[in-house]
Amino acid sequence: MLDQLHVIEKEATEKIQACQDLKTLNDLRVLYLGKKGPIQEVMKKMKELDKEERAKVGQVSNQVKQEITKLIESKKEVLEQKAIEDQIASETIDISLPAYQLPTGTIHPLSRVIEELEDLFIGMGYDIAEGPEVEEDYYNFELLNVPKGHPARDMQDTFYIDENNLLRSQTSPVQARVMLKAKGEGPIKIICPGKTYRRDDDDATHSHQFMQIEGLVVDRHITMGDLKGTLELFARKMFGQKRQIRFRPSYFPFTEPSVEVDISCHNCDGKGCAMCKHTGWIEALGAGMVNPHVLEMCGFDPQEYQGFAFGIGVERVAMLKYGIDNIRSFYTDDLRFLEQFTRKDDE
Ligand SMILES: [Zn+2]
Repeated sequence: MLDQLHVIEKEATEKIQACQDLKTLNDLRVLYLGKKGPIQEVMKKMKELDKEERAKVGQVSNQVKQEITKLIESKKEVLEQKAIEDQIASETIDISLPAYQLPTGTIHPLSRVIEELEDLFIGMGYDIAEGPEVEEDYYNFELLNVPKGHPARDMQDTFYIDENNLLRSQTSPVQARVMLKAKGEGPIKIICPGKTYRRDDDDATHSHQFMQIEGLVVDRHITMGDLKGTLELFARKMFGQKRQIRFRPSYFPFTEPSVEVDISCHNCDGKGCAMCKHTGWIEALGAGMVNPHVLEMCGFDPQEYQGFAFGIGVERVAMLKYGIDNIRSFYTDDLRFLEQFTRKDDE
């Protein structure tokens, strides 16, 4: 019987040493240390022995069980360590693999022009104001000195929602809203970038939807000189440090006097080229001193306050700056066009 136990021990030792995974090891543990294993079989027969032999066999069988338990425990440690190492090896990151190329978007040229101008004007102490695109006739026209039936409404024929509401034909109604909110107390310094709408037939230079940046300053002692200095900075920021500007008399209902602003051509440095139609100057935007009647309607005393306003066409600036010849390019989502404008170009 003692021999039998030693045979079992030898067999178990060999099997445990040969074992390569935790599941097989667990099966061996159940077999040799459980209630139905070969050791138990031997112990069942112990009652046939006399007292002295029974004690001896009992002792040896316990030693064998302890030995097997010890072997299984140390094998288990080895196999568990191996499992961890295998897992680490299988999860190793191969840093020599080339990375995936993630597609990145580019900034739209209109957004870029707006961002650049916002930077410039914020640097000069302006706030950015916003207003609704669906606007009341009252703000879009009447407060800007264009009463019903005024011929200037023809130039700005827009989309009407109903008799009193329309898609704004300019960003100027934001001026009126900001002035009314200020309740006659200056100063006001705002720019308002936004979408505007007119009933134009679309072609290479006209779009029924376009973007403007409106500027408004209202304070005491504001002159045309302030307007000119401000627009000169704008021209130099967008088209280079050597640019000059000139004013030509014009007419807008909400400014008096009104001017068209020309910028010396950045393409030929004023010598004359196709872009400036050989004049050396490029027509860039409209501006003027806020009409005293508009100041009054919007709650300011024109004896005390003056103001200037300007409206920059964002598409026009982008077309001039980047040499784009069709306004529709901005709205057709053609990637071949858009991909030319990357952040890398930022100075
Ligand atoms: Zn030119």
